[in-house]
Amino acid sequence: MHEVSIIQNVVKIVTEKAIENKFTKVSKVSLKIGELSGVMPESLNFAFKSCIMESMLEGATLEIEKVKAIAECLDCKKEFPIDHFNKLCPICNQFCSSIVSGYELYINTIEGD
Ligand SMILES: [Zn+2]
Repeated sequence: MHEVSIIQNVVKIVTEKAIENKFTKVSKVSLKIGELSGVMPESLNFAFKSCIMESMLEGATLEIEKVKAIAECLDCKKEFPIDHFNKLCPICNQFCSSIVSGYELYINTIEGD
């Protein structure tokens, strides 16, 4: 399960950051997930609930912010939304390999006290 290993990493990083910031408890973790990252938010939520037991994150909520997939055309410099199957510029109809966003997967904020 891909999502479980992602969450295990998230929990590890959040715990380290929480200790650095002298938190005793983490109440909320916010993740940014790109549309093209291939990660299922439902699976992340499920994995999160099982991975935070008996950790500093126990009882914390997981917030998932989706990031739209955007590419920039190398010819006309237009930015446009893309998906897995369609990365064509709407103006030039050229395949675009310059992805601006959509593959992100990172911890955005941590709340605790
Ligand atoms: Zn173009």
